[in-house]
Formats: sequence, structure tokens, C-alpha cells
Amino acid sequence: MKYFYKNLSIWLVVALVAFLLFSLLKGPTEVYHSIPYDEFLEKVDNDVLSSVIINNNTISWTTADKTAYRTIIPEKSPALDHLLNKKVKILVKEDMKPHWFLTTFLSWVPFILLFGVWFFFMRGGGQPGGGGKAMAFGKSRAQLVDPEQSKIRLADVAGVDEAKEEVSEIVDFLKQPDKFTDAGARIPTGVLLYGEPGTGKTLLAKAIAGEAGVPFYSISGSNFVEMYVGIGASRVRDLFKEGKQNAPCIIFIDEIDAVGRHRSSGGAGGNDEREQTLNQLLVEMDGFEANDHVIIVAATNRQDILDPALLRPGRFDRQVMVPLPDVGGRRKILQVHSRKIQVGEDVDWKVMAKGTPGFSGAQLANMVNEAALLMTRAGKEFVTMEILEEAKDKVMMGAERKSMIITEHEKKVTAYHEAGHALVAWMLPGSDPVHKVTIIPRGRALGLTMQLPQEERNSHDRTYLFINLCTLLGGRIAEEIVFNEMTTGAGNDIERVSDIARKMVCEWGMSDAVGPMTFKPSDPLNGIPGQIMSEETALLIDNEVKQLVQKAYDTAKDILTTNREILEAVTQSLLDKETINHDEIQQIVQLHTT
Ligand code: ADP
Ligand code: ZN
Repeated sequence: MKYFYKNLSIWLVVALVAFLLFSLLKGPTEVYHSIPYDEFLEKVDNDVLSSVIINNNTISWTTADKTAYRTIIPEKSPALDHLLNKKVKILVKEDMKPHWFLTTFLSWVPFILLFGVWFFFMRGGGQPGGGGKAMAFGKSRAQLVDPEQSKIRLADVAGVDEAKEEVSEIVDFLKQPDKFTDAGARIPTGVLLYGEPGTGKTLLAKAIAGEAGVPFYSISGSNFVEMYVGIGASRVRDLFKEGKQNAPCIIFIDEIDAVGRHRSSGGAGGNDEREQTLNQLLVEMDGFEANDHVIIVAATNRQDILDPALLRPGRFDRQVMVPLPDVGGRRKILQVHSRKIQVGEDVDWKVMAKGTPGFSGAQLANMVNEAALLMTRAGKEFVTMEILEEAKDKVMMGAERKSMIITEHEKKVTAYHEAGHALVAWMLPGSDPVHKVTIIPRGRALGLTMQLPQEERNSHDRTYLFINLCTLLGGRIAEEIVFNEMTTGAGNDIERVSDIARKMVCEWGMSDAVGPMTFKPSDPLNGIPGQIMSEETALLIDNEVKQLVQKAYDTAKDILTTNREILEAVTQSLLDKETINHDEIQQIVQLHTT
């Protein structure tokens, strides 16, 4: 329908322009002879003319032989009489008036342009569901998912069983609200889903709506925050009004931290608009009656920075954590998504799940999709383990940049760098096994050493963290040993080293000298002030961090110098093959230790 109107308007414009051009080009229809004014008077005096047509200042007539003549009457002026007396030839020039159509059109051009621009912006601005809402400045801009269209069910959300259990009660309520209200139960108005990005919060909210068969309004918190004060608040008002009219329903606010950030943050003045919007949100939530049957589901990955007012009873008093999936969860998620593709017999989802620690649901979904794409590109019928492995690498480390131009020297440095990481990790007992080392550039990295934990870990001990420091430093140290040179390639490693070391000392109480105390740094973006500490403490912390890093540095350097031969062999192998895996490293190490 939209396209129909668009086409229609285009054709109208084309027709208009065509007509205009045509009428301009066609010009005056009659062909006539212009005659000087004095000649005309002469003709009158000589009784040549029997009838004339006067139109404004033009006089026209036709002779018996059907020739048209015309003359233009000059304006009255003293000079005219004089000229006539002296029998001067007088030819009046017609002033070239533009076609009436052109004048009207031109005078309308600015308005048409203005209207066009306005229309364009109103449509372009209203991103989700904005299509038809050209007039909706203070409108909510929420996107509506029709219950009939939504096919997402709780079964589509895998691996987050606890969260599913918590929300299933809400499904029951939406299905039979009266049963609950009759029993005098107070149903939560707000449910806050929190967890890392891509863990399936949006999916879960949609599944609630799909399962209960109610409409689902979805909006992102950032949509409330506009340039103009007051619009966010009015959008919130509108959203809730719409929700109440369509109850029972679910209103889903994604990224609620965009509006719901701690109000004191941002210093004096703060963000008036955001604050107003948040206040409006609170007011609306408080205004809910038990029989409104509207449930607000919000999602965030920064639950810690939300304004406490949002979490009070009657508002988002139910908080459901949606965690990153564990091995079993990952397997289920992979299986859910693999329903859509052809899977070969060799595929073992258990192995795949084991090899993807830390992956979110979104990443797993992405991986299956990548695998399907790779399969199609390779002209295969089904996805194999090999394809899945390639897809995993792509999701984990970014696409390979085979076309990137790297000098021989750069390649060599990268090979030593990665071999350094790998060897340190290999030699330190307790570190995550090295899974794969590559010097094919991916994403922003020139090379990569991938380690896979043997089992899921939810907490890390000091030794493990220390080993990590050593491994991270291994890259830079290898460059130093071999080339006596430093490159920027280690920048990211060093950043991570500093971060881990500082956290070990300041947040996890892992330094004996500082003791079990936390000294959190300030987070100015979210208005969290840093901890106040004495100058001595600050010095002590700096010292401890430095010592820790130095110790890791020494350990790693020691490993690399004593195993220089292996370092060279691994590097050579990397230069030959570009990518080597666990078994290949094992072979090299064995060859050089016996
Ligand atoms: P979030 O809102 O937490 O950032 P989404 O719900 O948008 O994450 O997840 C993005 C996509 O990832 C989903 O559409 C789905 O395809 C996939 N996904 C994420 N988590 C899961 C899960 N637990 N089960 C199945 N698919 C998932
Ligand atoms: Zn590195």
C-alpha cells in the first residue's frame, strides 16, 4: 500500500512537469502579424477595419483573407501624441509575461520543498514502527508484535531454565488474570531481566508474550532520550496509554539503563530530559492498577547502575538474571538453532558446546548461521564439524583478512609474538590448554592464540590469574628476546595485563601488602565515584601492581629464554602453516625435549 502511494505521487509529479513543459513549449497558438500602432491608426482612419477584438492593451483583427493582425496600444503619455503628430513609427513591445502556470508553480516551490523535507524527516526519524506515524513526535514509537504473528515460544529459549521458570508464572497470569486477582494475589507490574548482551533477554520477553498470546510492545530505552526536553516523558505516557488500551499485553523496554540510570549521576544539572523521562516512567508504573493486566518487562546488562527507585516494590520488583549459558545450556541452544539447517552425522553438539565457553546465545545462533552460510558457499549439502569449527573461529575472532597486506618482517614478528603467548601458556601448569595459534589476521588482530578452558570456571584463583598475566606478557617478551624491539602489536595484551593486575590488587584483595580490601576506581560515565584513599595507600597499590606485573614478566621471560629452541620451532611452524593446533604444538615440544 505504501508503495502504491509512493508510485502515485511520483507519477503525479512527472505528469505535472510534462504538462508544464508542453504548455510552455507550445507557446501562443495563433500566428499573427504585428503591426505598428501608428499603422493601425492609419488603417482605422482609412476605414480598412470593420471589427477588432480588444484584450487589455492588445487589439487584434482578421482580414477577409484570414490573416490575423494585432497591435499593442502604447500607454498614454504626452510623448505619444507628439510622436503620432510627427508620424513616427511606433511599435510597442509586448512585455513577456511568464505562463500563469509557471508563476503559480514557482510561488509554491518553497512550500512543497518544506513539506517534503518535513515528511522525509518524520518518516525517517520514527525508526521502529515509525512508518505510518508521520505526526508522532510525542508518540511512543513502540513496535507492536501481533500475538497472531509471534511464533516465539518458551521452548525456543534454551539453556536458561531458571529464568524461564521465573517468568512462566507471568505467562499464567496473562492467560488467566482473573484467577490470580480473585485470589487476591498481587502480580508484579515490572520484571527486570538482566544479564550479558545476547543472552536472550529480548527473546525471553517475546516468548512470554507468544506463550500467553498477548500483544507485545517493544521499545528501546534510548528511544525515549531525545534532544528535546519533554518528548521522552510524553512518549512514556503515550506508550502506557497504548498498553492499557490493549491489555492484557507486554510492554518490553530494552536497554532500560538508557533512561533508568542512577539519577545523581552526571554531576550537577545532569540530564534533565532523561530524569524527566525516568520520573514519568515511575509515575506511570505507580499508576498501574492490579486489573490493568499490563506487564512491563525491561532488559539491561547494567543492572548495577539503575536508579534504586526503579527497583522498589510495585515497580521492577522482580528481577530475573539471564546468565551466559553453561555447557549444557550451550548444547541446547545449538540444538534449537540447528533445527533450521541440515546437519551432518559427524556433528557432535556436545563437543561444540564444550569448545565454546563464554559464548552467549546470540553468538551461538550466529555461529550456526555462519556455518550454514559457509556450507552453502562450499556447495555442501549439510553442515559438518569442520564447517562448524570454521564458523566458530569466525564468530570468536572475526573474519579472516586474508587480503590484508603484511610485510615479511611483520609476519615474522607476529609469528614470534604468538609463539611466545603459546609457549608460556604451554609451559605453565594450570593454564588453559592452547587450542589453536594463528597468524592469519582477523578483525583487528594480526594473530591470535586461542586457549580453551578444560572446564567451566566461575571463579578464578590467584595462581590462574597470575598464569594469565604471564601468558599475556609472553607475546611482547618473545619480540624483545628475538628482535630486541618493541611493537605496538602488544598494546592490547598490555592493557589487559594492567587491568587484571590492578583488579587483583584493588578489587579481589589478592595482594598481601594491601590486604583484603577493595579500592574501586571511579566510573565517571555512570556517576560512580572512586573510593577515597590515602596517598600512602595509593602508592602501595601502585607498587603492588607493578611488582605483580614484574613477577609475571620475569616468569614468562625465564620460560622463553630457557626454551628458545622450541620458540623458534613453533615460530617456524607458524610461518609455514599460518595456523597450528594443539597436537602440532605438542609434537614440536616433544621433539625438542627428548
Ligand atoms: P539480549 O536481548 O539478551 O541482548 P537477544 O534476545 O536479542 O539477546 O538474543 C539475540 C538472539 O540470540 C536471539 O534472537 C536468539 O536467536 C539468540 N539467542 C540468545 N539467547 C538464546 C537462548 N537462550 N536460546 C535460544 N536462542 C538464543
Ligand atoms: Zn598478543
